[in-house]
Amino acid sequence: MLKKNPAPQQCPTNFEKIEPMFNQEFRTIHPIFPEWTLERMPKKINTKRIKLDKNQMFEGWLYGSYNTKGKFRCLKCIKSGITDSDATWSSAYTTVLCATYYEPDADEYGQDWIGGWIEMKIFAQQCSNCGEYVTGELDDQRCRNFVKWLHRWIGHKFYGYPFRRLGYQGKTTDRHHLVNQCEACEAGWCHYSGN
Ligand SMILES: [Zn+2]
Ligand SMILES: [Zn+2]
Repeated sequence: MLKKNPAPQQCPTNFEKIEPMFNQEFRTIHPIFPEWTLERMPKKINTKRIKLDKNQMFEGWLYGSYNTKGKFRCLKCIKSGITDSDATWSSAYTTVLCATYYEPDADEYGQDWIGGWIEMKIFAQQCSNCGEYVTGELDDQRCRNFVKWLHRWIGHKFYGYPFRRLGYQGKTTDRHHLVNQCEACEAGWCHYSGN
């Protein structure tokens, strides 16, 4: 599955779209939190909620999830000539998981400073056709909505600002969500199952 020399990507990844939006939001929109950094969640992290729970804190990390609508494209099927309608789908239950860590630290000169880290991951869904796990893609507007949610959530959790619950809540027409093919359902973070 993982090629050693991946072809140059035609369109930016979710992270490549989200990171500059994050930097702009956290550094220029009131209240600003310039000490925060956004990173991709390392693949080796076990995101099973049962392991992470206990007031959502786990070894100093605070976890939160955001529900949005994503588009999924199975490149394996597309490459093998499967028609677009079978190889692509969208889901109103596309889950973004954020792991955050906030602590005082010291730089190389021994100066104390406070830094916050956010690791993000968009859960995959399994292609009905071939079984491959495919990561959801968010369009620009949904990336922006996610970053705005993240800004409010961090403000609330770490600085005590009031929080308004926004974000895509799903629709009744999305009842056909395929639980067995959703990595977020499996890990216990999908909003479909009331998480
Ligand atoms: Zn497929
Ligand atoms: Zn799900």
